[in-house]
Amino acid sequence: MDGSPGPLPLLDVVFETIPSMVFVKRADDLTLLRVNAAGQRFLQRSQAELAGKTLFDILDSEQATRFDRAEREVLASGEPADLGDVRVRLPTGDFWLWVQTAPVAEQGARPSILVTIARDVTEKHLLRAANQRWQLAFEHADWGVVIVSADGTCFEDVNPAFARMHGYEREELIGASRLKVVAPEAREEVARLLDMVAERGHYSFESVHARKDGSTFPVAIDAGIAFDQNGKPLFRAVNVQDVSVLKLTEQGLRAARAEAERANQAKSEFLSRMSHELRTPLNVILGFSQVLQMDHLTADQSESIDHILRAGRHLLALIDDVLDISRIESGKLPLSIEPVDAAPVFAEVLRLMEPAAARARVQLIRGSGHQSCFVLADRQRLTQVLMNVVSNAIKYNVEGGFVRIECSHSGSLVEFAVSDSGIGIPQDDTDRLFAPFDRLGFESSGIEGTGLGLSLCRSLVEAMDGSIAAARNTGRGSTFTVTLKKAEAPYPLEPRPDTSVLDPVASATTGTILCIEDNLANFKVIQHVLAHRQGIVLIPAMQGEIGLQLARDHRPDLILLDLHLPDIPGEEVLQRLLQNPLTAGIPVVIASADATPRRVEHLLQSGARGYLTKPLDIAKLLQTVDSLLPGPQEPPPS
Ligand code: ADP
Repeated sequence: MDGSPGPLPLLDVVFETIPSMVFVKRADDLTLLRVNAAGQRFLQRSQAELAGKTLFDILDSEQATRFDRAEREVLASGEPADLGDVRVRLPTGDFWLWVQTAPVAEQGARPSILVTIARDVTEKHLLRAANQRWQLAFEHADWGVVIVSADGTCFEDVNPAFARMHGYEREELIGASRLKVVAPEAREEVARLLDMVAERGHYSFESVHARKDGSTFPVAIDAGIAFDQNGKPLFRAVNVQDVSVLKLTEQGLRAARAEAERANQAKSEFLSRMSHELRTPLNVILGFSQVLQMDHLTADQSESIDHILRAGRHLLALIDDVLDISRIESGKLPLSIEPVDAAPVFAEVLRLMEPAAARARVQLIRGSGHQSCFVLADRQRLTQVLMNVVSNAIKYNVEGGFVRIECSHSGSLVEFAVSDSGIGIPQDDTDRLFAPFDRLGFESSGIEGTGLGLSLCRSLVEAMDGSIAAARNTGRGSTFTVTLKKAEAPYPLEPRPDTSVLDPVASATTGTILCIEDNLANFKVIQHVLAHRQGIVLIPAMQGEIGLQLARDHRPDLILLDLHLPDIPGEEVLQRLLQNPLTAGIPVVIASADATPRRVEHLLQSGARGYLTKPLDIAKLLQTVDSLLPGPQEPPPS
């Protein structure tokens, strides 16, 4: 022995170190004799654990049977064979192995061993599958997919859909400039956007592409860059979609929406104009009918005038409702939503409806909850809604019946319920009640009505952020419920001031008062009240900006300011008056129904000199005016 490794140990070293797995089996029963290190690593079992085992001890029976059959065929043929890529499922996962197997025999004898060599080709296999999938998608996608060079300048590959979309053959585009398909007017912009892709790695944009025949079309583009492990850009993958149809649909929808809005606006304006125009002759008809009624008329004539008056009033009610509905629809109904005490509203509704109830021999009952309770509403419109519902409850009642009105709170809501003992509402028809012109069969019943009342009520209540609902009573009749948001109680009213101030002689106050108030009726009240002060000049302003201008021009001695103005908030008017040196010294008194303690305090701290709550207390208004205006001017020395 010379000490150098003999041939057999060297083969052993080769056997153990080659990266492929080698399995040596006995040819007669296919039990494992030896497995090299790569094979043991792959199976995660040692030589000792594997020796004497068959494939049936390692794989599931289906795979083992398949392998076993193939190996026996190889043995029978006596020739080495390539089994190709074989899928194996092990507890450690699914793998693809490339397998070759060869029978080994002493010269002339039958093979005594079978050597199987396997290589793990899972990664390559997955890559190939992914590639095939990508290729399939690329070839068959019905939108454009292109591979562009890493610098974004030329097409490396384009799919058939992209070529079709642009009217080219694929070959005409592969290798061509990226800008070849961009409409000339969009090229500069696209070049800039391509830089954006480089900067961000991924970018989407819209552009205009040109076909081979020069016609253009809008496209949506989504581009991304693929990088290698070292962060070096490899290529750009770009999705291109023809969005002509989408754009046309969008344009069509936009135009249709604008047209519908225009038509709706035109309809509302037309209704509003027409209602105004109808009122003028109607006033003449109603006015002169009443004048005629005062004459000595025969019974026939008197009956005819009654018909004219009744029809005229019906028409007037219809016009008023249509006008209100069209104003609500066009968002032009001015609402002054403020904390309103429901108690006086209730009292007023009951007082106003009492004569109608008496005529119909229906009893009006005050239910519970008539004490002071504040809701967020427009006082005038709340009264209108409740009057309408109570009027219906009387109209659709029976002789000797009743109408009960009550109010209750629950959480942040206040509920007004009007229940009646009338004919009730048909089952499942509660929604029809609120549909315009639907009188549910009462058209020729002799009960007057337009079918617009409840529809208007719903619009009004919703404009006040509330809701209205109807329900059948278990016994007779029905209940209509109006729900509104509860409001904080306003500042406690001061004790009534001395009414002697009403006497025009008691005060000789003089001066100019600017009244910034948008509601004509409210202004008229102030005008009437100030008629008690002969030395006062009253300047009206219906909007904030106009008020500010008049204040600068006339420097009045006092400003009465409403908080809800159509153009700018009253609070802003106050601030701008105080900031301008020309008007800063003029006392400003707020006149508003919005009189929660927090609000009053805030405005007084902001510089208001007084706060009058609406409905106005006449004596309090005069007292405030007297205290803030200068006294009578000394007559000039003669
Ligand atoms: P109208 O002018 O006809 O009273 P409304 O819009 O106020 O119009 O009401 C629509 C319809 O709802 C009425 O025609 C009537 O059929 C029904 N209705 C309304 N209130 C009551 C009620 N309290 N009881 C029974 N039916 C009612």
